[in-house]
Amino acid sequence: MKNLYDNVSVLKGVGPKKAEALAELDINTIYDLLTYYPFRYDDFKVKNLSDIVDQEKVTLKGKIAADPVVNYFGRRRNLLNARLLVGNDIVRVTFFNQPWLKKQMTVGEEVLIYGRFDKNKASLTGIKILSSTEGNEMNPIYPVNKHIRQKTIRDLVKLAFDEYKDSIEDIIPADIRDKYKLESQLQVIHDMHFPKTTKDAMLARRTAKFAEFFLFQMRLQSLKSEEQKDAGISIKDDTHSVEKFMGELPFQLTDAQKRVVNDILGDLKSDRQMNRLLQGDVGSGKTIVAALAILFCINGGYQAALMAPTEILAEQHANKLANLFAGTRVNVALLTGDTKAAAKKELLPRIANGEINLVIGTHTLFQDNVEYANLGLAIIDEQHRFGVNQRAKLRQKNDGTNVLAMTATPIPRTLAITSYGEMDISIIDELPAGRQPVQTAWIKEKQFDSSVDFIKQRLKSGEQIYVVTPLVEESEAVDMKNAVNIFENFKSIFEPEFKVGLLHGKMKDDEKNEVMTKFENNEYQILVSTTVIEVGVDVSNATMMIVFNADHFGLAQLHQLRGRVGRGDKKSYCLLISDPKTETGVKRMNVMVDSNDGFVISQKDLELRGPGDIMGKAQSGLPEFKIGDPVADLTMLSIAQQEAIQIVSQDDWKNITSYSKLYKYVQQKNNKKMFD
Ligand code: ADP
Ligand code: MG
Repeated sequence: MKNLYDNVSVLKGVGPKKAEALAELDINTIYDLLTYYPFRYDDFKVKNLSDIVDQEKVTLKGKIAADPVVNYFGRRRNLLNARLLVGNDIVRVTFFNQPWLKKQMTVGEEVLIYGRFDKNKASLTGIKILSSTEGNEMNPIYPVNKHIRQKTIRDLVKLAFDEYKDSIEDIIPADIRDKYKLESQLQVIHDMHFPKTTKDAMLARRTAKFAEFFLFQMRLQSLKSEEQKDAGISIKDDTHSVEKFMGELPFQLTDAQKRVVNDILGDLKSDRQMNRLLQGDVGSGKTIVAALAILFCINGGYQAALMAPTEILAEQHANKLANLFAGTRVNVALLTGDTKAAAKKELLPRIANGEINLVIGTHTLFQDNVEYANLGLAIIDEQHRFGVNQRAKLRQKNDGTNVLAMTATPIPRTLAITSYGEMDISIIDELPAGRQPVQTAWIKEKQFDSSVDFIKQRLKSGEQIYVVTPLVEESEAVDMKNAVNIFENFKSIFEPEFKVGLLHGKMKDDEKNEVMTKFENNEYQILVSTTVIEVGVDVSNATMMIVFNADHFGLAQLHQLRGRVGRGDKKSYCLLISDPKTETGVKRMNVMVDSNDGFVISQKDLELRGPGDIMGKAQSGLPEFKIGDPVADLTMLSIAQQEAIQIVSQDDWKNITSYSKLYKYVQQKNNKKMFD
């Protein structure tokens, strides 16, 4: 048997130069070449005139009925006219600017001409003359670059297939192929490149997609199961004290919150290292879940750390948790980039000796000079604001420390299955009772005046309002001006009756905190801000969110912003102001108006903008598939995942004979990194 992983240069006609050009298309081995699939086909099958529809691209077979004539118009333009006898009908054939084809059209001889047919005029606009073997075929079209022609790929694929077809074997286990009626790998490769009919090609593509997803998932799931064998800190079971604490809360946990608390405590007790993502829409109550995990950890004798993406949020968490944990053995400290050197000097030794057992802060928490006595749990709030890298770094730096990442940016299932595949996921899919959906409207900027009365009504009934403007310009100075303009404008409309505050990125942290505190205390009724308030902030008297230039935000971000209101029991509103320039832009605004469900919104965002833009390219980490589309083929992707999980969960799967090829494949591939 030949080796499919031979370099393509073993093929006749592939020298160093061609090999290099192929490598640019990621074709290095014979296997790469055979799985370099066409993205579409031209159907060259000869058809009867009566079966052709108007303007169809089609191949006609007939005899040249009279000498073709070339007419020139100026130096470059010319027409080649011929008459073709197809059955008993005469079809007029015209080629533009290909006068040399005349030589291939001898009166009385049979030819195959591919072109676009006009039914009314019974005429064909010729595209090319086919060789006799090309008719009756689906002609594959490959993605190529400027160094490689279509024909080169086609010829090489044919050559490789003929020489290596006996070595093509099935990696997907037979039971799975049977279950989903998948084709053999040999047939897939044949029918992807040389299908007889469109249906053949489609069936082959179906299997090829599944294979791609399944093999990816096998790699991911086996990595995950390896990782889970890593020892983690196991925390002594003390569920009782957590339950008691829960009983004293002013509210009942939702069923969804209870479920995820169970997931998390289960992880903490076990001797595996926890690596869990907690997903829950804005306002679903992730903080209290985190708090219970922290309490469990600290009661078990370990320290916990909570990392937030902004100083404002870290401080808010520290205040709220210090209140919540008053009278328990939890001893809270806040540590951010803002913490004064003297205060820090005093704090660090107390963290190192374990006296402080809950540290809350920004990324400074995991800088080198911060040492913990026995960190049992690290929680990352709003984890999408940190990168995949930080997630990995955190896990590496703290040996065995359990990691809980929380996010309010709902991760579409596609990303959950692929980019977060190495983590366990818990979802809070329920909001606390009594929450009313935020009513959202979209207006153009020039319509703003008409909403002033409505805004005044809100203010008169004692409610507060956020006004947000995005980073529109490259320069922060210009953005600030934008925010300042809106601020001045709001002042001129609403002051002195109501007071307007301003918050932007150029302000010092104490200034920001001061403004934020004044808003929390209702000294400001309106807060005009750049995006610093995007995440986490919790002021329940605010009932209206106004967003200028809303089309400059991602949908997930808009949903986050909107999540700042609707936190209490009063009816809340979101006013999006934008003049989108594209149809997609209009659709995106309508998605926001129509849906309050973060999962629906992020899925739509993914569909409308592509995964890279939701969380930033680096963070989306969506792997590239050659033919499968993880968004459009989500159902197939999740079936492939289930099957992979099923296989990997069998302890001895590596020793089961029918999986031996699969195992070999996974092992070989996983020696390389999955996400570089
Ligand atoms: P997020 O998931 O966006 O971080 P928070 O944890 O900030 O949400 O919770 C939003 C608000 O809901 C907080 O004021 C919190 O006290 C409250 N809350 C959390 N869980 C419940 C519950 N089960 N019932 C009622 N209110 C709750
Ligand atoms: Mg939160």
